[in-house]
Amino acid sequence: MKIEKIEIFKGTVYYKAPFKISLGSSEQSDEVVIKIYGENGLYGIGEASPASHIIGETQETAIAASKVIASSLIGEDTDDLGLLFDKIDHSLLRNTSAKAAFDIALYDLISKEHNVPLSKFLGKYRKKIETDVTIGIMDNASAVKKAEYLKKIGIKRIKMKVGEEINSDLKRVEEVINTVGNGINIFIDANQAWKPKEAISNIRRFESLGIDLVEQPVIAYDVDGLAFVRKNTSSRIMADESVHSPEDAIRVVKKEAADMINIKLMKSGGIHNAIKIANISEAAGLPNMVGCMMEGSIAIAAGIHFSLSTKNVIFVDLDSDIDMKNTLTSGMMLPMENGFRMDDNFSGLGNLALNGEEISLVETIKEGSRQKAF
Ligand SMILES: [Mg+2]
Repeated sequence: MKIEKIEIFKGTVYYKAPFKISLGSSEQSDEVVIKIYGENGLYGIGEASPASHIIGETQETAIAASKVIASSLIGEDTDDLGLLFDKIDHSLLRNTSAKAAFDIALYDLISKEHNVPLSKFLGKYRKKIETDVTIGIMDNASAVKKAEYLKKIGIKRIKMKVGEEINSDLKRVEEVINTVGNGINIFIDANQAWKPKEAISNIRRFESLGIDLVEQPVIAYDVDGLAFVRKNTSSRIMADESVHSPEDAIRVVKKEAADMINIKLMKSGGIHNAIKIANISEAAGLPNMVGCMMEGSIAIAAGIHFSLSTKNVIFVDLDSDIDMKNTLTSGMMLPMENGFRMDDNFSGLGNLALNGEEISLVETIKEGSRQKAF
């Protein structure tokens, strides 16, 4: 099926409450939405969640990158999916959230063309998968209140953001454990906040509270430091910001720097590279979690479909859509039941359709407007 037209939109999702991690605080995500049209009006949708502090992109840069990527795809055939992913990867360096939006839109389009859910197109492994819900850095009373609510709605796994002042981090985590710890698995994410030796002493203090899984304790590039922390603590260490690409995953495996790898479509440049990271991880004996930026329902749906089709994913951290006041899509919300996420058995990304009131068109790329990338 020939790609006839690509539209680039922008839209913003607003959080129900400010979300704070060790890298900063935010109240909204400025997203880019891609719509790829095949023949007969059939289209696929994808979303970029640029997350400037993690992947170095903004809505503006993602729009600029999207124009370059769109130019490399227009007029091509969706039957050549492998070739199209190669064109996306080589259209420009990095800019992985923009690439993810095109990857997701292409997968949505082709699974709609085959009239199957994306998870089935990818090769379904399971019908549903457990998700955690994240509690950001906040005052202790608010953290306890949120944890109690999450327990009430059936959540069995909570991720707590840490990486501010260690004693207040410990106190907050301890209060949550004391309130809901019975029956709820709690782990922590420091988002690169600690130096390696500091991480070891901090993690040992969290271990005394019963914590046994720690995400990204040290700065992203310090894979040796991550390995040093792993060898000197008994917790499982999960690499997040240290692994964006398949090549990063190989580095972490070689240095024995992690016990788990957090895959995010926005870091990898979409599902086709997430599959490579999952394969590397599985061969090395490292399970995956699939995580998210503060992204909307299109990208979350893609993460769910990928997770349902990937054996090596043992649980997911796909929860940001439930923390949004608005959605860039109209129609039914993505299901989350008793802490599990599932596809809703429709074709493509489900019954997601763009909400015209929440997004605005930035650019239309047609064959005549094809630009040279370089
Ligand atoms: Mg993380």
